[in-house]
Amino acid sequence: MKSTGIVRRIDEMGRIVLPAELRRTMDISDRETMEIFTDGSAIILKKYTPACIFCDSGRTVSLFKGKNICARCLRQLRESPADAEEEPPESV
Ligand SMILES: [Zn+2]
Repeated sequence: MKSTGIVRRIDEMGRIVLPAELRRTMDISDRETMEIFTDGSAIILKKYTPACIFCDSGRTVSLFKGKNICARCLRQLRESPADAEEEPPESV
C-alpha cells in the first residue's frame, strides 16, 4: 500500500472528499461508483467494475435477474439441460 500523504476529516454525515488531484490520477469521474473493501484496520476504495458472479470476468457483463452475468455464462446457462426443465404438468 502506498501513502498519498493526504489527510482528510470525515464530516458529521460520515462523508469524506477524495481530492480532485487523486481522482484525476486514478481516473475517477463524478458520480462514479466505488466499491469499499477492508483489510485489517484499512479501508480500501476501488472503482467499481461489475463482474460476472460465475467466472468473475469483467467483459460483456449485463444484469440477469438482478445479478451480473457475462455473455459467455449467460449462453452456457441457456444451453444447460437444467434450464430446459419443463413445468410439472397441471393436475385436473
Ligand atoms: Zn461469466
